[in-house]
Amino acid sequence: MNRKKRIRLGVFKYTCCAGCEFQLIFFQKKILEIFENLEIIYFRMGESGGGEEGPFDLVLIDGAITEAWQADQLKKVRQAAKFLLPIGSCAVNGGIPAIKNSTSELEMEKRVYQQIQPLHSMKAHPVDDYVKVDGYIKGCPMGEKDLVEAVTSLLLGKRANFINYSVCVECKLKGNLCLLIADKLPCMGPVTNAGCGALCPSYGRACYACWGPMEDANSRALAWQFEKMGLEPDDIFRKFTQYASNKLEFRKGAQLYGSTT
Ligand code: SF4
Ligand code: SF4
Ligand code: SF4
Repeated sequence: MNRKKRIRLGVFKYTCCAGCEFQLIFFQKKILEIFENLEIIYFRMGESGGGEEGPFDLVLIDGAITEAWQADQLKKVRQAAKFLLPIGSCAVNGGIPAIKNSTSELEMEKRVYQQIQPLHSMKAHPVDDYVKVDGYIKGCPMGEKDLVEAVTSLLLGKRANFINYSVCVECKLKGNLCLLIADKLPCMGPVTNAGCGALCPSYGRACYACWGPMEDANSRALAWQFEKMGLEPDDIFRKFTQYASNKLEFRKGAQLYGSTT
């Protein structure tokens, strides 16, 4: 990388809690080390000012798409960006906003707002439903390791080596006793993508899948296991729709116990 070349960065936020943008600011020291000479073109939370038209070397997208204007802007941003990465579960797989996807949009609006006339919301979509992406920074909030791997790989022109195995692998590497087997806790670790270091099981709590599904996750087998353990159908349904209900890997588990519409 030419030391004099500045990386033109854009950060855009759609529907989410903005926790991943906070993470970006929190990680700033490391990010600045990587970029050497970062030029923020657009990052509303980090710096005021315009620049949303770009052009950008790299764009990070925080949040799910739940309104038409967001999808329209996202397509324009994609055209102005060399590389584009969704950051965090909301942008990667619908995350928490996708909880609403298993209920009709009208019913959901009525439950939340007194006046629904001004609303123009739609179901929550991950970023790659609308535009091509150059990788995924998973996590809720996003993981630092994947972010650093993605950014350095893009800058070096090499393929990023993202983690693609389950939380159980990290859990076993830590030497944890399995909560699913030993304590009969309904842990989502077997179907959830690793990267968090098996944070919850390491503190005696069952994983609730905040990093989203692992590729080819066998959610049906885990759902049947939960049923054998005595979980009610509604509880099993919620386990697979709490995060990333858009993703087929989780829908396979949820659909055995309810309609994901
Ligand atoms: S992925 Fe989690 S931390 Fe990040 S914006 Fe969504 S809800 Fe917030
Ligand atoms: S506690 Fe959960 S994450 Fe850990 S090995 Fe058991 S099922 Fe997997
Ligand atoms: S263990 Fe599961 S719920 Fe906890 S941080 Fe990791 S992926 Fe998220």
